[in-house]
Amino acid sequence: MNGFKPGYTVWTSHGEVESDTMFNNFVVGESSRSTEHNYFQGSRMSDMVDDAFGMHSDFEQGENVEEAPNEEANIFYEQLRDCSSPLFNGSQHSKLSVAVRLLSIKSDNNISQGAMDSMIELMKELVDPNVEIPDSYYKANALVSKLGLSSIRIDCCEKGCMLYYKEDVNLESCKFCSHPRYKIGSTGKKLAIKAMHYLPLIPRLKRLYASNSSAPHMRWHCENRRPPSVTCHPSDGEAWKHFDRTYPDFAAEPRNVRLGLCADGFTPFSVGATPYSCWPVFITPYNLPPEMCMTSPYIFLNCVISGSSNPKSKIDVYLQPLIDELKLLWSEGVETWDILVTKFQHACYFNVDY
Ligand SMILES: [Zn+2]
Repeated sequence: MNGFKPGYTVWTSHGEVESDTMFNNFVVGESSRSTEHNYFQGSRMSDMVDDAFGMHSDFEQGENVEEAPNEEANIFYEQLRDCSSPLFNGSQHSKLSVAVRLLSIKSDNNISQGAMDSMIELMKELVDPNVEIPDSYYKANALVSKLGLSSIRIDCCEKGCMLYYKEDVNLESCKFCSHPRYKIGSTGKKLAIKAMHYLPLIPRLKRLYASNSSAPHMRWHCENRRPPSVTCHPSDGEAWKHFDRTYPDFAAEPRNVRLGLCADGFTPFSVGATPYSCWPVFITPYNLPPEMCMTSPYIFLNCVISGSSNPKSKIDVYLQPLIDELKLLWSEGVETWDILVTKFQHACYFNVDY
């Protein structure tokens, strides 16, 4: 983070408002650095759970509701309600926030699953048996996945020619270069030589409409027209206006989703270490105001392409699952439930940037 002032976590000089006063009190107080860090982490964690799972207080209070959510939205809300209630009276944590925190601790510190399970076992012994915390790392992961934020592992050819996906899912070797799909591990099990992780886009777009914190902003681009001389959002650009003129039916519904796609590679290890490249692909909904669409909760990681070298033109191979989702959104649309107007609508896409 070169160039940033230490401790400049709330971008007050860039228009961000200091809302978390408790956190700021901690920073100026006498508390130790680690307490600050833990408190901040805890506070960020609850924000993350709120952002990711979309708390829906208006829905619970019955405001703005003209029509009941569809079955899919109902299941989601029921599951969310079940696991987001406080662990005990006065607790800041819920079963869901504990599960998300456990997942984060494991990945931040590169802890083995066995060690996580031992720690969870100890936590269970220390707390009241009625306090519901996940029984194991597997259960914590399953809880988060159940709420729609899962990822899919797709095997690929080591040389990047193809994915073992759809009609090719059962192939044992590459249909272009004949390279085998599996190697035999030390336990005698077949292990995929290379795989990618794909995080489906459509469930994430649906969450934007299921959450009070994002649903109203999905119409921002249409409801906040700027004067012609001001450019502060992709919707001020000529490309966006040209698209609106070309597809007036699409433009007529401001909730239709317009997406930007961005991919760039980096080497996670220092120069001189084993060559290794990592290509994350990100999607961001440009319906949102500028201060939201460029922030991490709304920049969705879609897939990570890892390997010993830059995928170059073969990046297309890895983008197949995303293209399939985008085609579905564009040609047929996907029904979702909007918490604000409780009307079914179609989510479509438009690629603004590449
Ligand atoms: Zn191949």
